[in-house]
Amino acid sequence: MATTHKTRMLIIGSGPAGLSAAIYGARAGMEPIVVQGLQPGGQLTITTDVENYPGFREVIQGPWLMQEMQAQAEHVGTRMMWDTITSVDLTGDVFVAQGDSGDTYEGDTLVIATGAQAKWLGVPGEQELSGKGVSACATCDGFFYRGKKVVVIGGGNTAVEEALYLTNHATEVVLIHRRDSLRAEKILQDRLFAHPKITTLWNKRIDRFLAGADGQLRALALIDTETGEQGEILTDGAFVAIGHAPATELFKGKLAMDETGYLIVEPGTPKTDIPGVFAAGDVSDHVYRQAITAAGTGCMAALDAERYLAAKHFAGVTETVQY
Ligand SMILES: Cc1cc2nc3c(=O)[nH]c(=O)nc-3n(C[C@H](O)[C@H](O)[C@H](O)COP(=O)(O)OP(=O)(O)OC[C@H]3O[C@@H](n4cnc5c(N)ncnc54)[C@H](O)[C@@H]3O)c2cc1C
Repeated sequence: MATTHKTRMLIIGSGPAGLSAAIYGARAGMEPIVVQGLQPGGQLTITTDVENYPGFREVIQGPWLMQEMQAQAEHVGTRMMWDTITSVDLTGDVFVAQGDSGDTYEGDTLVIATGAQAKWLGVPGEQELSGKGVSACATCDGFFYRGKKVVVIGGGNTAVEEALYLTNHATEVVLIHRRDSLRAEKILQDRLFAHPKITTLWNKRIDRFLAGADGQLRALALIDTETGEQGEILTDGAFVAIGHAPATELFKGKLAMDETGYLIVEPGTPKTDIPGVFAAGDVSDHVYRQAITAAGTGCMAALDAERYLAAKHFAGVTETVQY
């Protein structure tokens, strides 16, 4: 039977942003509800080694970290829901979200932590070798390629930034693009072309990712987009850098977002253009996209949600809320 769940803080998304908001919200007595979505634990559940989340000297596993975060959130009083939100109504005093299960969720405040997914090429070998030489995040995985050769695939700002970042670790970085010029900003291109460790391969599309006998990425099969000629490039790592897609379909026409779909927040805060609705993590961050930044903004969202409710309570329903 369909049920209506009410809470002082409704959180959509169970990655580092959503679960950190839940930990802070629960400890502030807001009895949060987290609707987990199709990827409980978020993006870190599809990776293996995590070496940059503070507090752990040794390499930890992404899925383990998210299990611990969820256990901590539950331990302090969060209710976790196996459901996916299919529509939201942000027009009233209470924010209403409809679950795929038929259940309805009502929150006095709403934290949106639906994340963003890396775009992949969708060619053979890519998903099979993800975490075994294929990555979509140089900041996350670049460190593992110290003294090695890597390739970066893409032609926009992300690709150029990833290539430049990887020069801190790799001895050789090859940027592969399917056209003969880049879309990236000129200043980034200038840095790229001037860098002694970086070379470019133009007019090449990736046909497939090839594994070695050890099951790790060995090479990329390429096709020249002009001549159709086939080739191969040997590499230790491949970084797919063709952009990210924020999960904001639900909020189109309801919340301010930029041209690529990221939710717009007041600078330095998680506040959206609707008071009481907050955005945390990758859904509003196309720059940093890290577990620690997602957790940090999740914490900020919970603190601001608590302040919003306190101010609302103090002002009474007829006055403007200042928080
Ligand atoms: C392969 C890989 C490796 C990475 N490695 C690292 C690393 O080593 N270190 C690091 O700091 N970062 C790493 N990252 C980046 C990091 O995972 C993200 O920055 C972080 O997970 C973002 O957290 P988030 O909470 O904003 O969103 P996400 O983790 O993306 O979580 C989004 C959540 O929203 C839920 N959701 C979406 N839509 C709905 C809906 N309609 N209803 C309900 N729920 C919904 C999803 O189910 C999910 O639980 C990696 C990312 C990837 C893909």
